[in-house]
Amino acid sequence: QQPDSDLLARTTCPYCGVGCGVKAQLVEGRMVDVEGDDQHPANFGRLCVKGSALAETLGDRGRLLQPLVDGRAVDWQVALSETASRIQAIRDEKGNAAIAGYLSGQLLTEDYYVANKLFKGFLGTPHLDTNSRLCMASAVAAYKRSFGADAVPCNYEDLEEAELVVLVGSNLAWNHPVLFQRLRVAKARNPLMRVVVIDPRVTDSCELADLYLGIRPGSDARLFNGLLAWMADKGRLDSLYLQRHTNGFEEALAAAREGESSIEAVAADCDVDTERLETFYYWFASQLHVVTLYSQGVNQSTSGTDKCHTIINCHLAGGKIGLPGAGPFSITGQPNAMGGREVGGLANQLAAHMDYDSPGALERVTRFWSTPSLTPDLPEAPGYKAVELFEAIERGEIQALWIMATNPLVSLPDANRVRTAIERCPLVIVSECMLDTDLVELADIVLPASGWSEKDGTVTNSERRISRQRGMLPPPGEARHDWWIISQVATHLGYSEAFSYAHPAEIFTEHARLSGFENDTQHQRRLFDISALAELDQDGYDALEPIQWPVSVDSPRGTARLFEDGRFATADGRARLWPITPRQPHQTLSSEYPLRLNSGRIRDQWHTMTRTSRAARLMNHRSEPFVEVHEADARHYHLTDRQLARITAATGEMRVRVRISPAQRRGEIFVPIHWTDRLSSAARSGSLFQGVTDPLSGQPESKHGAVAIEPL
Ligand code: SF4
Repeated sequence: QQPDSDLLARTTCPYCGVGCGVKAQLVEGRMVDVEGDDQHPANFGRLCVKGSALAETLGDRGRLLQPLVDGRAVDWQVALSETASRIQAIRDEKGNAAIAGYLSGQLLTEDYYVANKLFKGFLGTPHLDTNSRLCMASAVAAYKRSFGADAVPCNYEDLEEAELVVLVGSNLAWNHPVLFQRLRVAKARNPLMRVVVIDPRVTDSCELADLYLGIRPGSDARLFNGLLAWMADKGRLDSLYLQRHTNGFEEALAAAREGESSIEAVAADCDVDTERLETFYYWFASQLHVVTLYSQGVNQSTSGTDKCHTIINCHLAGGKIGLPGAGPFSITGQPNAMGGREVGGLANQLAAHMDYDSPGALERVTRFWSTPSLTPDLPEAPGYKAVELFEAIERGEIQALWIMATNPLVSLPDANRVRTAIERCPLVIVSECMLDTDLVELADIVLPASGWSEKDGTVTNSERRISRQRGMLPPPGEARHDWWIISQVATHLGYSEAFSYAHPAEIFTEHARLSGFENDTQHQRRLFDISALAELDQDGYDALEPIQWPVSVDSPRGTARLFEDGRFATADGRARLWPITPRQPHQTLSSEYPLRLNSGRIRDQWHTMTRTSRAARLMNHRSEPFVEVHEADARHYHLTDRQLARITAATGEMRVRVRISPAQRRGEIFVPIHWTDRLSSAARSGSLFQGVTDPLSGQPESKHGAVAIEPL
């Protein structure tokens, strides 16, 4: 693709799950500025500080410009044939299941689709998972169990139309800043709107809070179980809604009432003031238009799915769903966490929102992906989820690993063990934009990938809205698009007939066709259906405006809100409330590790900072890794503000700058997730968390470490 000399191109921000529209100004083939796209329904012209600095993060400096095989620069022919032949050699010797892929919510949907088709469809391995597992797998599991589909019911306008917005485990102000801006404006317009923040830390999101509940980490399920019991006790249920549209209420209520369920007991367990807790319960119960917005603070837990269920239970019990300004709303972290879910990029999914045990799914996908001379070889059962995947690599069970657009050395828990696993893996292939990463250093084969502003495709944001990312600059050096790289490796493996794509539009329309393929023959119709987009030609795809799925024959203009008719995607059309007994975090405190460790993003950085660290003004906010500590803890552990400290856990250590902060609860500390050991010595927060996960979702417990701290 040739650069236009002067152009204002419309695309989508590559950072968070808000999915803001961006207008990029190009002059003589160089991006000189960006501004918010005032036509894009996610942001209507707004951008946060990260988005507005996008043009400053571009340029060839530090980019990976050539394929590398065993550290040697090679041309693409050599790189592709080496990649294919080494994968095939391991398949021949160890079988299909010795091959694995690890993807990323940074990939575009088209990249994800082709990767899923190659790994599950033609390499025949179930072991394909994604870093989205770390982000929202618990929310997905709960949506599927409660609604019959991984389907976010709400949209961003619901946030503005709500009378009560509850933020749980979400620092919206830092992690989804444009949504926070929209909420601020909506609250200013509607003086009756209330905002409640439930979070162990006093974050910047508290700026809008009418009520703040600084709960004990991990007590979310107890708090929402308490709300369900309170609503029942006070006659605040929507009995008609429960009767017509749900199953499981009695069991869920019985579980919520287990043990001591008085409001005083709940307040004590959650470590919040009883009066404030009752105020929240009263506000929630008395408003119909309530949005509960939750994120990693809920999801990243060994009981993350349970916590999501307790939130969903309360919304179903009050009939606060399927209405303007109402619903349980999980906000994704990454720009395309949802697109990955749509194509089947999680190890427990097959394709197009079909699971392995969805009736007829294996046969249907096999038929769809078959060509005149090729028949896919789909595995019959789900593969390893992220943490399990790297354990299987450590055991030697998986011998070839292809990682795309993510760095598990930094982001996964028990990160030192992950490093050992990767070091032991006989074949490590890495598709990456940047040259100087610790993961590239460990790879046998490195494939240079194109990045934002260079590649074409789609992403889906947190409100199910599919938007185009548009390529406007040529990739540097020999960098290529991920879908092209995967398709070429597939061709070298002998599958050219199934991977002969010339443009991402062809991939997107195939993906759209699969979403509707034999969909109407099923008793339990799949909710994810974008088949109305299957006939787009290249021009139509290039011009595609943001649209919310489903986009089917029944809803060709998209669907703003789900479940408005009270009919869910379950076999009997009813939502299910789940009985939940709250569980404590798995990582327990001890005399050796007496502090509770929380982790998260900071306002101006993104993931491992390969892009955001290039913009000087983004480094001004926080220029080095830090730990936030309560004043009393600082005294107890002989720490002073701005000094260096060592944090230790059973799994590793981190060296950081101390920030004494009134935001912290006593006995709890907070570290950012972004820094790598390349950027600052011993700076990976992932090394401090055990690799323990939610039994249903496989999401790691990255908010509940057990650590010690000392001055350095
Ligand atoms: Fe990008 Fe998210 Fe900021 Fe929007 S809010 S500009 S999507 S980082």
